Amino acid sequence: MVGMASSDSRTAADMNHAIWLPYCQMKTARDSERVVENEGVMLRLADGRQLIDGIASWWTACHGYNHPQIVAAICQQAQQMSHVMLGGLVHEPATRLAERLADLIPGEDNKVFFSDSGSVAVEVALKIATQHWLNRGITSKNRFVCFQDAYHGDTAGAMSLCDPVDSMHAHFKGFLLEQFPTAIPTNQDELQGFRDFLLERRDRIAGVIIEPLIQMAAGFRFHSAESLAGIAQVCRELELLLILDEVATGFGRTGTMFALEQADLKPDLVCLGKGLSGGAVGLAATVASRSVYQPFHSGAPEHALMHGPTYMGNPIACAAAHASLDLFEQEPRLQQAQALEAWFTEYLQPLKADPHVVDVRCRGAVGAVQLQTEVALTPAIDFFVERGCWLRPLRDVIYLAPSFTIEKPQVETLCQAIVDFVQTR
Ligand SMILES: *Cc1c(COP(=O)(O)O)cnc(C)c1O
Repeated sequence: MVGMASSDSRTAADMNHAIWLPYCQMKTARDSERVVENEGVMLRLADGRQLIDGIASWWTACHGYNHPQIVAAICQQAQQMSHVMLGGLVHEPATRLAERLADLIPGEDNKVFFSDSGSVAVEVALKIATQHWLNRGITSKNRFVCFQDAYHGDTAGAMSLCDPVDSMHAHFKGFLLEQFPTAIPTNQDELQGFRDFLLERRDRIAGVIIEPLIQMAAGFRFHSAESLAGIAQVCRELELLLILDEVATGFGRTGTMFALEQADLKPDLVCLGKGLSGGAVGLAATVASRSVYQPFHSGAPEHALMHGPTYMGNPIACAAAHASLDLFEQEPRLQQAQALEAWFTEYLQPLKADPHVVDVRCRGAVGAVQLQTEVALTPAIDFFVERGCWLRPLRDVIYLAPSFTIEKPQVETLCQAIVDFVQTR
């Protein structure tokens, strides 16, 4: 292209002068690696180096990058119909995807509301939950119970649900809605305490939101299926809506298609995102149960849900999601995700004996090594990139959340890099 400098001749600093990058102090951040291609679990950099990706672009690319079936579905859909608004128009890629998702989530007659990111799927769930009570004439129930170490996204409503002390959103206190944060109960006594906590605030609580089984982005913490089932049971008893944020855990990450399956839950609202499109394009959804939806379905115009992300149900994104769901049906994806737990355990568990290591946690396709101290990002990424690995520690945790298609030798390379890194401490 005339007038455009060849990108390869420019330094990283030159190239990055206009872009504002996420989650970093731009002034001191390490120069970003320049990616030009991805395939399977590999990232190819502009200078030809290849990295094994241990985190699948924030755990989205569950089938590996650029899966030919997903690419073909996107291309075919793009040629036929790019985007149309869902206001007054509808199309088969969205209606059929809604049907497929409604069927995948337990419960009869689920309704699926599309959006473009996980944070928005959470916002929509909050709005649905609040308005569910309003439509029933109950005006005081507009707060949510959320948990320590939670992460639900970066928009204002979602931020208000993140860990109140430890999260990166802590300094927005005052700007954010006040919610009711508490700890995840881990035994019967704590569950009783949790029930009391809810009971005291019941008139003001619209619902309880949790990342089921694995709390990802705020620290890779796990809780048991029994804890989750106990929370669900208390919600049912006290008639509070249970919102499962499966944006991270959905589509196989915990070893089952959804984490809720392991606690046999029938939630009121489920948020989906990340792996929904197989990691190809932004797509998210909020799934509401029949009973949550019911008060919206009335003769009163004001009972309608007044929400509509511009790109909701984008046909190209829906086509990618269909191809991704097809792959889950055709290939042993969940077995692959389960196998990862064993491999992570085999390679990472020995680190538990290391004095710098607080904990090693492996579950489904997630492996996390928690260190005594926070990991400085720049030297850590340098260390991993030198070993051909793409890993991005999060505070005191080095984690793996790769594509389920990753092979054992690649897992071994990633884990060995982590072991070596810990040994440099
Ligand atoms: C990533 C994530 C979100 C936010 O999704 P975005 O697409 O980044 O807005 C919400 N909840 C959970 C559990 C997540 O992991």
